[in-house]
Amino acid sequence: MDRNISTFKQLCEYCVSSKKNIYEIAQYNMAKEADISENEVRNVVMNALKSMKEAISIGINSNELSVSGMCGDDCYKVKKFYNKNHSMFGPLFQKVIEYALATSEENIRMGKIVACPTAGSCGILPAALISISEEYKYNTDDQLNALITAGEIGRIVSAKMALAGAVAGCQAECGVASAMAAAAITQIRGGNIYQILNSSALALKNVLGLTCDPVAGLVEVPCVKRNPFMAVFAITASELALSGVESKIPIDEVVDAMAQTGALMSPMLKESSEAGLATTKTGLYYKSLICKK
Ligand code: SF4
Repeated sequence: MDRNISTFKQLCEYCVSSKKNIYEIAQYNMAKEADISENEVRNVVMNALKSMKEAISIGINSNELSVSGMCGDDCYKVKKFYNKNHSMFGPLFQKVIEYALATSEENIRMGKIVACPTAGSCGILPAALISISEEYKYNTDDQLNALITAGEIGRIVSAKMALAGAVAGCQAECGVASAMAAAAITQIRGGNIYQILNSSALALKNVLGLTCDPVAGLVEVPCVKRNPFMAVFAITASELALSGVESKIPIDEVVDAMAQTGALMSPMLKESSEAGLATTKTGLYYKSLICKK
């Protein structure tokens, strides 16, 4: 197998010519690069999956605020609401929202999370993948295959550009997480290579230009609440792709557009907290309160 797959076009061509799935190619290449067996690769991914589930189960039962006091009880509020009211979109939607908040809030409490691809975007992939796996009873192997697929999406994007708000805004963190989540769900639901890559392209296109302007420089506002939104976007992208809807712009070009957009974005909107939400009257008020602590 080719260890030097650096574009989605190459990945797609190789999947087609070898009649293999993305996860098969990715796990083979990971094993070869790390000089371990493919089973050992799957064990590493299994540990990540377990950590994702642990973060959800701890986070969903906590309403402890972060040190700043800005965040930490949103999942609790949502859970309380859903105890009495059902989501108009049904139980799966409820789970997605709760799991994304639970994980993201574990991050701001300094709990253990899996950065996928970053800590600020850590709730998106687990929320989408684990809630769907629970609702539709996908087994562990299916979940591992989906997670490896998502990882390969993140790997190829990160080969082209750094996945950091400081480099390209939140499109490179929450946006890429949404693209990874879309690929994971499309894989687990039996989508083919074209549908998987289309789902990622559709998810990523949806967030091009998203800035990174965290209040007080903390990965809390708007980060925590951005996670459930992005998880839902990922499911939308996956369902569009599974229906045969195509991204007119191929995923490689969407990534190029993201890199270009990031380069054109003002440094004031790239994690420096010098503009946007961070410098609103209320954003500055929270910052002054935190500075006094
Ligand atoms: S707003 Fe910035 S810090 Fe927050 S998740 Fe997005 S990229 Fe990360």
